[in-house]
Amino acid sequence: MPELPEVEVCRLGISPHIIAQKVSEVIIRNSRLRWPIPDEVSSVIGLPVLGVDRRAKYLLLRFSNGTLLLHLGMSGTIRVIEKDTPIAKHDHFDLVFQHGKVLRLNDPRRFGAVLWLVNDQDELGLLSKLGPEPLSDEFSKGYLFKKAKNRKVPIKTFLMNNHVVVGVGNIYANEALFKAGILPTAKAGDVDERRMDSLTNIIKKVLSAAIEQGGTTLKDFTQADGRPGYFAQSLMVYGRAGQSCITCQTRLQEIRQSNRSSVFCPNCQQE
Ligand SMILES: [Zn+2]
Repeated sequence: MPELPEVEVCRLGISPHIIAQKVSEVIIRNSRLRWPIPDEVSSVIGLPVLGVDRRAKYLLLRFSNGTLLLHLGMSGTIRVIEKDTPIAKHDHFDLVFQHGKVLRLNDPRRFGAVLWLVNDQDELGLLSKLGPEPLSDEFSKGYLFKKAKNRKVPIKTFLMNNHVVVGVGNIYANEALFKAGILPTAKAGDVDERRMDSLTNIIKKVLSAAIEQGGTTLKDFTQADGRPGYFAQSLMVYGRAGQSCITCQTRLQEIRQSNRSSVFCPNCQQE
């Protein structure tokens, strides 16, 4: 599943090819994504893309009359390729540009989304209830500790809650908690301020490093093959249950939390 770093790298990969370019055609081959693609997306025909922003895992293509929202869901990829590139299976949506390129969404599992927002008002409430961006100044010293006050939910569940902070998916929650030495089962309200601040810094570092690493895949966004925006990561705990901890050689354990895998070192991580 594309996580925040992959979506940010996608934004960086597609932006230079579509900003200031005018849309000539909108092609909906299959509108049955997570929500039906609304007909209003065709209102961008003739208009240039003013900018490409990201909020959480949503890509926001800005136009003078509104915003085209794109989400990659579980399996989506976006690339900007030549208009005459043959259609592949699962190529559900095209934004064709006057300069001969096309932004093409491919999504085998169809959990992705293409929506239209006017004035950033979204009836589905996708954007309005989100917590701060993890790489913003709003998410810094003191924030997590204050937010977690009296909360009894496990710290991992807390971190993955989009109302607390956006974009900390399962992999990054596992890795950040390992690096911060905090057990995923610790009650959020019990983690002291010093460790919460350390966790905050680690989350920023882990996500920034992933974005930087993904920078090597930027050219994939303009190629018709490959899987742009999905990059291999060097992981310390995620996917390593049963193997030894890279720090202390203790066997890493795995539990399920909110139906997601949590892998941790029982020696390096504490309540
Ligand atoms: Zn260890």
